[in-house]
Amino acid sequence: MKRILVEVVLVIGLIAAAAFGWLNLQKGQAATAKITEIQAASDAAAGEVKDAAKKLKASGEELSALQEQMRPLQTKALELDAVKAAMSKGEVLADVEALYKKQKGLSADRQLGLGALRLLTKGSSDPGAAEAFKKALQMADWGNRKDTICAAQIGLAAAGEKVKMLSECAPLPAAEAAADKGEKSGHDDKKPEADKHGAEKHAAHWDYEGEMGPDKWGSEFPTCAKGKSQSPLDIKGPFVKASFKVSTDYKMGPLRIINNGHTIQVNVPAGSKARIDGVPYELLQFHFHKPSEELIDGKPSAMVVHFVHKNEAGKLAVLGVLLKEGNENPGIKALWANAPTKEGPEVAPAEVSFNPSNLMPREFDFYSYEGSLTTPPCTEGVQFFILKSPVNISREQVGDFPFKRNARPVQPLNGRTITSG
Ligand SMILES: [Zn+2]
Repeated sequence: MKRILVEVVLVIGLIAAAAFGWLNLQKGQAATAKITEIQAASDAAAGEVKDAAKKLKASGEELSALQEQMRPLQTKALELDAVKAAMSKGEVLADVEALYKKQKGLSADRQLGLGALRLLTKGSSDPGAAEAFKKALQMADWGNRKDTICAAQIGLAAAGEKVKMLSECAPLPAAEAAADKGEKSGHDDKKPEADKHGAEKHAAHWDYEGEMGPDKWGSEFPTCAKGKSQSPLDIKGPFVKASFKVSTDYKMGPLRIINNGHTIQVNVPAGSKARIDGVPYELLQFHFHKPSEELIDGKPSAMVVHFVHKNEAGKLAVLGVLLKEGNENPGIKALWANAPTKEGPEVAPAEVSFNPSNLMPREFDFYSYEGSLTTPPCTEGVQFFILKSPVNISREQVGDFPFKRNARPVQPLNGRTITSG
């Protein structure tokens, strides 16, 4: 039965990604309606599968009850098989490939969709599928990182590659998904306890110290070690004068805050924007580092807030606001009051709203450089803007941040220019 669960989850994830790609292509055509329908069905099924998987872990004795619940899921799997068959004719893949060929670079989502389409059309022996999933993995960014990494890793496993799965990507252990693929026996007698080992044994963790500290990130995430445009930097002159301006238009919205084990992060509802050289960038989330990752003339600040934005072309821009020790910061006070002190899921406390502009200084003079994510997978092509004006944070507030230290050390400049505006 677990086998069915694994397959249903895989197919649903991939169909959703493929449908995303196809949707982009077929805008306005009749096919859109059909795919949307299937996607909705997939989403619903995915939710049910998650719940079922949780229960499966919780107790082996509920197996017979679960078998009842599995029946509608099997029906869904059959429906999805029908979609698979439609795609296997190859027309969708050919269309999407033709469309994507005209584009300069594909976003991580599109790489995922392409991989899924290849997988569905040509089967798991097609090297192009694995290639697309690998690209998606490399491009995973702050906005969609976990979802993309998980989808790409599941896709790679489905394409027959050996994958070290992030522990966060379980609901179902990935190692087993790959193992299940190899098994030819149709029946599965394994006890639910078998679910436990896979994810943990193959978990890929990273940390800010010790055996999984920043100097070891490169073994799991090659760009962290091999990249030539990594962040953060020690910001010092000479500077090149910037010819453009940065401004923000952040909006009040319901607070969604998470302790993800590496930082406190606020996920921002759509509508808050930054404007960089006239181009709008949507604010996705902001998070904190202690001490500041960026140094100014060799010196760190008490902390830094990174506001992570993405424009329509998928380009990331990070606005960094340095926090220096001084008066209490009322914005931080509101956040710390709601921030989980232990790692866990996002919380959305009822009737608490927050405006990210509460954390911005008045002046928008900045230093700017081309860098990377400062956490694995250290993806490059991220434009950084570090504001010259810091804002205050009290010593107590710095002490109340639930991480002792979560800053990547500064990286080599490698000939990059730093602009000043
Ligand atoms: Zn950051």
